[in-house]
Amino acid sequence: MKVTCCVVAAFFLAVSARGADEVIALKAARIFDGKSNALVQNGVVIVEGNKIIDAGSNLPIPSSARVIDLGDATLCPGFMDAHTHLTSDYSGDFNERRLKEVDLNVSEQAIIATAHARATVEAGFTTVRDLGSRFVGSREFVDVALRNSINKGVIVGPRMLVATKGIGATGGHFDATSGFRDFLFGREPDYTDGIADGPDEIRKAVRFEVKNGADVIKAAVSGGVLSLADEVDTPQLTPAEIAALVDESHRLRKKVAVHCHGDQAAREAIEAGVDSIEHGSFVKPETLTVMKKKGTFLTPTLMATEWIMGKLDNYPPALQAKAKAAAAARSDMFRNAVKMGVRISFGTDAAVYPHGQNAKEFKLMVDLGMNPIDALKSATANDAELLGIGQKVGTLEKGKLADLIGVPGDPTVDITATERVSFVMKEGKVIRQGPPAVQRTENTALPHLTAPAD
Ligand SMILES: [Zn+2]
Repeated sequence: MKVTCCVVAAFFLAVSARGADEVIALKAARIFDGKSNALVQNGVVIVEGNKIIDAGSNLPIPSSARVIDLGDATLCPGFMDAHTHLTSDYSGDFNERRLKEVDLNVSEQAIIATAHARATVEAGFTTVRDLGSRFVGSREFVDVALRNSINKGVIVGPRMLVATKGIGATGGHFDATSGFRDFLFGREPDYTDGIADGPDEIRKAVRFEVKNGADVIKAAVSGGVLSLADEVDTPQLTPAEIAALVDESHRLRKKVAVHCHGDQAAREAIEAGVDSIEHGSFVKPETLTVMKKKGTFLTPTLMATEWIMGKLDNYPPALQAKAKAAAAARSDMFRNAVKMGVRISFGTDAAVYPHGQNAKEFKLMVDLGMNPIDALKSATANDAELLGIGQKVGTLEKGKLADLIGVPGDPTVDITATERVSFVMKEGKVIRQGPPAVQRTENTALPHLTAPAD
């Protein structure tokens, strides 16, 4: 009897708790649910508290609901960007930025990052996978602090899955002391900076990052564009090191994203079982075939190359040469990946270009042969799967968290509509309805690509 009473009491408590949540009915001319191959007309999404309780066409509106009618717009799941660096800004002059990085204290850079977070969520990106946050000579975990502050509601920003320091080899793409005088910072970087050599040290670096709050592990398996002491496509970890990285990360239930431009490094990383290849500029069709077979995601980050190529004067000659080589290769690689049906995740390398312009990636993807609806899926259901949060977000379905955005018109007709998001809701809370709070000022125009990136 006592048990029954408890059950009844719990039931009424649950009902009254539910009753306290506001019901919002969102209406728009169309809806993209994140998984279907076509938009549905007369979209309605009913939100209660932080969850979606129904989504579809012409649904009846509960009498208690507050109605938000977006008119001639398309309701979409909140976009995701699987490759950002919210704690940094590399978009200006390269040398000026390097100086600023050692000039400003890390606390000040952390405060600046709060504006990047706000610009990102206001652009419609309600989730990001933030792939690396490091400040040369410092061991601060600014990305962890940013994620936690957003989760606590202290600041406004996207849901973040963070990688802390990217893991890489001595002198490799992630060695922030490369290009500076030796021992300028008093010591060689070590596993506490994400710099590790040999399988055991790599395992230690993974464990250290997870201990300090990493949700995902990022590593550089090949050279990169914006680093001074390496070639863009050479392998930087051995197969044994990559195997240790993947094994340790997966044991700790963390996914592995690898920065990789070169083909050999990509092949070795895919064979070792990484979850995504970031960039992939020089990846050959044979390697894409292996990727497809293994189900490895490709995060193409077309925006990064686009921005660098449009602002080449910002970079030293050695980096200009690397950027040109990567840009010349990446368009064919992307076209091949689309044709071959490689799983494509949406990621932009935000920080290389000014934060908040993430949606410009959509047009670049479509211009290189991707179907608009597939591009939209890459930023919703695909990213949710890659990030391992598909149970909670990525589609507009009953029971999912209410991350919703409104884009004007029909984005499958004009994909650039994604750049003009007018409404953002995250977990049932309206973050933006109308103009953004963060006014974009400098560096906002995406320069026209002049080099043969296409
Ligand atoms: Zn990056």
